Amino acid sequence: MTKRAAVPLIFERSTPGRRGYRLPELDVPETPLEELIPQEYLRTDAPELPEVSELEVVRHYTQLSRLNHGVDVGFYPLGSCTMKYNPRVHEDVVSLPGLRAIHPYQPEETVQGALELMYNLGEYLAAISGLSKASLQPAAGAHGELAGLMVIKRYHNHRGEGHRTEMIVPDSAHGTNPASCAMVGYKVVEVPSDERGGVDVGALKKLVGPNTAGLMLTNPNTLGLFDENICRIANIVHEAGGLLYYDGANANAIMGIVRPGDTGFDVVHFNLHKTFSTPHGGGGPGAGPIVVSKELAPFLPGPVVEKEGDQYRFVMPEHSIGRLRSFYGNFLVYAKAYAYILSHGPKGLREVSETAVLHANYMMNRLKDVFELPYDRICMHEFVLSGSGLKEYGVRTLDLAKRLSDFGYHAPTVYFPLVVEEAIMIEPTETEPKSTLDEFIEVMKQIAQEAKDNPEMLTTAPHHTPVRRVDEARAARHPVLRWQKEQ
Ligand SMILES: *Cc1c(COP(=O)(O)O)cnc(C)c1O
Repeated sequence: MTKRAAVPLIFERSTPGRRGYRLPELDVPETPLEELIPQEYLRTDAPELPEVSELEVVRHYTQLSRLNHGVDVGFYPLGSCTMKYNPRVHEDVVSLPGLRAIHPYQPEETVQGALELMYNLGEYLAAISGLSKASLQPAAGAHGELAGLMVIKRYHNHRGEGHRTEMIVPDSAHGTNPASCAMVGYKVVEVPSDERGGVDVGALKKLVGPNTAGLMLTNPNTLGLFDENICRIANIVHEAGGLLYYDGANANAIMGIVRPGDTGFDVVHFNLHKTFSTPHGGGGPGAGPIVVSKELAPFLPGPVVEKEGDQYRFVMPEHSIGRLRSFYGNFLVYAKAYAYILSHGPKGLREVSETAVLHANYMMNRLKDVFELPYDRICMHEFVLSGSGLKEYGVRTLDLAKRLSDFGYHAPTVYFPLVVEEAIMIEPTETEPKSTLDEFIEVMKQIAQEAKDNPEMLTTAPHHTPVRRVDEARAARHPVLRWQKEQ
């Protein structure tokens, strides 16, 4: 195991007196620091900062970026995360001064264009989801879940039905779903999957009742399978007085083809950083707007943008659950999503989803002879294999994932969803050329063969990455979060 990254870190390059910046001569009277900051907050000793030249700083960050994997470097089939290519035109858009250089404290009449962008984005998301009104506030998908569930809760309470405290969640759900339920104080009721990977409708019928607040579902679900019973499921939940929440993290499969609202959903969140293409994976920023039905619109988090005549303004919905974010959320992510939607248009968005689905089915069919395919049916934008067949060689899915790094690929999502043993969840996305898909398929086959011939090649992988296999337990329990001087 390497001690640290293969590149000397910037602190280790420090040379006393070296500088990476030059400031112009001070041409205003100097104010003593003590007059700006109260004495008690002033530090007495100088911080230990690296003393380096500008070039060394540039090299430091450039080299660090090369230690990392990103979609600009190679294929990134991380299931459920939609690591598609992010068109560069979005970066041009968000560097327009009218978007980048505005301030949230500016009077509304001076930022009408920004408000129009937010309003229109909400309208487009409403059109894509088949629902009525959007709030862009939530900062991510999980935050959208929280917002949507709070809206549902507020709605029930408003109608004097505060006793509805149970949220039904399938056993294949993303972990954020039950976590969000718990955060709003809902009891999670798990509904099992049937043999086709969808919601077990018979079991669902027995689970709904007077305490049902609703059902959370992602469709296609985390197995990459479209639940064909969705309209029946919606009826069952609605007849019991519950509402349906759509986890839109998998919306890349359905744009322009199915509108969640038409299949009975009352609340939808979109992960703009997934489906609508903002660089993500490093912790943000992202955005998880929610769109709701007409009945739920008065409960949306605010402020939301309304149009009055040809003027746009911020409005707090009548029974709003309140504010979820400082200011108006991650505005530049909205701008990227808006650019994405406009540059594709309705037909283009449909093509995105069709291509994503085609790519996944192509790969699934070419890999199903090599790895087990627990649910052998047409998939949507992703599919789930099982690595349990590797076990007889003493190899696990984790080892396969590590070995893929040696070929310059990011690993698929592994060990999720939990309903598949040794799960390998592959989402190729629409932006990859067929040649990438073919190369990846060949590498997967080669690794499957290695597992038989030379399992150690996998269990000791990766061999060619800057950091070799890390001790995950130690990394979690004793994380090294900052540079420390060698003892
Ligand atoms: C990514 C994802 C989420 C959470 O979204 P974040 O934007 O990461 O908070 C929820 N559900 C599913 C199915 C996801 O894939």
